Amino acid sequence: MWWTADEWAALTDAGTCGMCTDAHLDVNEHSVLVVETATSFVRIARNQAHRGYCLVILREHVTDLADLDPEQLGSFWADVQTAGRAIAEVFEPRRIDYLVMGHRMPHLRCHLLPQHAADDPLRNVDISDGPVLLPASVLQDDAVALRRAWAHAAGRNRRGGGSAPQR
Ligand SMILES: [Zn+2]
Repeated sequence: MWWTADEWAALTDAGTCGMCTDAHLDVNEHSVLVVETATSFVRIARNQAHRGYCLVILREHVTDLADLDPEQLGSFWADVQTAGRAIAEVFEPRRIDYLVMGHRMPHLRCHLLPQHAADDPLRNVDISDGPVLLPASVLQDDAVALRRAWAHAAGRNRRGGGSAPQR
């Protein structure tokens, strides 16, 4: 059975949304901040079962792709594209799956799940593969490498931009 109306109302409430609480933090329970743009926070997941797994999380608490205006939509997907290019540069996957879900945590985001040479291409996608948890220092190094690659990738578009988080 699907969520009750009350449960769904609670899940979609910006005031109690877990992503609104921690998507901007340098480090949180699930991921490390790579880049922030006017539209999004780009984060690398702690679970690196798929090496290079990142998320692009909309800054604003919007719960459905259908609710974005054309400008937000374009900016969001431009960030997703740039993140994919950065992942490709750093981790050289065979393919990146782009997943927009949100039936459990309905804050709009895209999961970028790289598929590598050792992965079975006929397996169903499962973002909970693993977990493979790397040392914090490795994730920080990954974030640095992705930030550098982001700058290259964003330069391929006229728009794009984004900057490293201020420290
Ligand atoms: Zn939210």
